[in-house]
Amino acid sequence: MSSAVAASDGHNNVYDRSTKTNRENVDTESSEIIGNDKHRYRKGKFLGKGGFARVYEITDVETGRVLACKEIRKASVAEPRTWAKVVSEINIHKKLRHTNIVQYEHFFEDNECVYIVLELCSNKTLLELLKTRKRLQDFEVKYYMLQMLAALQYLQAKNIIHRDLKLGNLFLSGDMKIKIGDFGLAAKCDDGERRQTLCGTPNYIAPEILDKRGHGYEVDTWSMGVILYTLLVGYPPFESSNVKKTCKLIKSNSYSIPSEMNLSESATDLITSILNSDPEQRPTLEAILVHPFFITGPTTDTLPISALTVAPKYT
Ligand code: ADP
Repeated sequence: MSSAVAASDGHNNVYDRSTKTNRENVDTESSEIIGNDKHRYRKGKFLGKGGFARVYEITDVETGRVLACKEIRKASVAEPRTWAKVVSEINIHKKLRHTNIVQYEHFFEDNECVYIVLELCSNKTLLELLKTRKRLQDFEVKYYMLQMLAALQYLQAKNIIHRDLKLGNLFLSGDMKIKIGDFGLAAKCDDGERRQTLCGTPNYIAPEILDKRGHGYEVDTWSMGVILYTLLVGYPPFESSNVKKTCKLIKSNSYSIPSEMNLSESATDLITSILNSDPEQRPTLEAILVHPFFITGPTTDTLPISALTVAPKYT
């Protein structure tokens, strides 16, 4: 099992697992050292928990560089299909290098866990940001969306569909830049090929996935539409009390833009054009970039960290 990852990474872990482990438990958790013969890290604070992973802040003992480490217990991914997902996540993520994608560094393993070392995104995700801020202003939404679009253009050029774009997978770096993360459901999609796997979180999932029509890059565009709506309105367009109802609402394209939110005409038009049930009718990323929502009105290239908690003023 472990050799599947080692063979696919290029950084072979030459640790002799039969005689020793590369985890050195010292007295306290804060002084725990993890790593392999090439890299040694001091394990720091717990950052969060995902489906299979626990994520920690780690510090490179030699360079002092602070990173994030996704720790996946091998026992929790022992089932071959689950293990294949971990291998696929690593294989896709390791080939990506873009300023708006969480940078993959490398992975290593010991008897119990696989560790994926990633760029640290110290300002959490857009999910936490929106929980605190409730709704964002147009110029902030443009700022975040333009960075997501840049990352998506890069992914499309590499024939990769993310398939799980949602607020919780849109990380924020220390300087408030968007970093798309979590490639656990991503797929490499060669031209013309339509993927059939049912995956993704219901609120952001495209109707063609629910209808098992086969799907392509347009599913990520759909999720961008859901994200755009959510950031401006404060909750997702197809939100309901349960998963089944949400799926029904998505399939019938039943959503409305509440008038009391006073969305701009251009924002309303962009949401409506992206949330089209027919994937072929959705705008391309290039068309989205020249939509009036992006080319008119205030924009910004930077946001202060205070924008995590209070609405920034446009100056
Ligand atoms: P899973 O793939 O198991 O769902 P995630 O990638 O969603 O795991 O990570 C779980 C949580 O860990 C995230 O919600 C976030 O709080 C934290 N996290 C993940 N990656 C990073 C990172 N690169 N920097 C900072 N925190 C992270």
